[in-house]
Amino acid sequence: MKTIGLIGGMSWESSIEYYRIINETAKQKLGGLHSAKSLMVTVDFAEIEKLQHEDRWEEAGKILVNCAQSLERGGADFIVLCTNTMHKLADQIIANVNIPFLHIADATAEKIVAAGMKRIGLLGTRFTMEHDFYKGRLIHDFGLEVLTPNRSDRGIIHRVIYDELVQGRIVDASRNEYKRIMNDLIVQGAEGIILGCTEIELLVKQNDSPVPLFPTTSIHAVAAVEKALEDHR
Ligand code: GLU
Repeated sequence: MKTIGLIGGMSWESSIEYYRIINETAKQKLGGLHSAKSLMVTVDFAEIEKLQHEDRWEEAGKILVNCAQSLERGGADFIVLCTNTMHKLADQIIANVNIPFLHIADATAEKIVAAGMKRIGLLGTRFTMEHDFYKGRLIHDFGLEVLTPNRSDRGIIHRVIYDELVQGRIVDASRNEYKRIMNDLIVQGAEGIILGCTEIELLVKQNDSPVPLFPTTSIHAVAAVEKALEDHR
């Protein structure tokens, strides 16, 4: 079994889910007392959030490169970055380590393509919904059509992530707003919806949506275990 190297803390509310899901998945796949081999380095999210909102991505990238290099030195076999937004810096990380990087958008897009879907809704931070690093990958590498909410609804999705979800607050009124926004995307033709922020699946569950949801934390964590077990016998 390979050792999974996790970069967490963005926020820890979802990192704890990664840890739980990778171990539950290893147990399901291998049985008995099995669990996953992993290392996790976690950051101070206040530092990261400040750099994000001040548009200082390069500096945030240096912090993540340091994390990835610590994982590599510690014996991790590959890197799992436990946030969608910070995949904006995936190339910077990949260029500075010698071990593979398991991209969250690729793991998610593979599921969407396997489900035979073409037109997909995307919820996430403003950075994930508006910048090209995530949407562009879905469109160009996987041939998907990506729908995002209108500007004011993107603002609501973003605000709920930073003011509530990363602080562990689950608010019913916000779930209703998310449901309304998801329904708008479905009316526009979305066949499924990517929960493209690792905390959204703490708020929204499959029974909140009439179309399939693609919860990125669960998808990425399971993909990590599958990769860790690739050569396992
Ligand atoms: N965890 C979130 C994500 O998946 C947002 C927090 C962050 O900015 O890293 O995008």
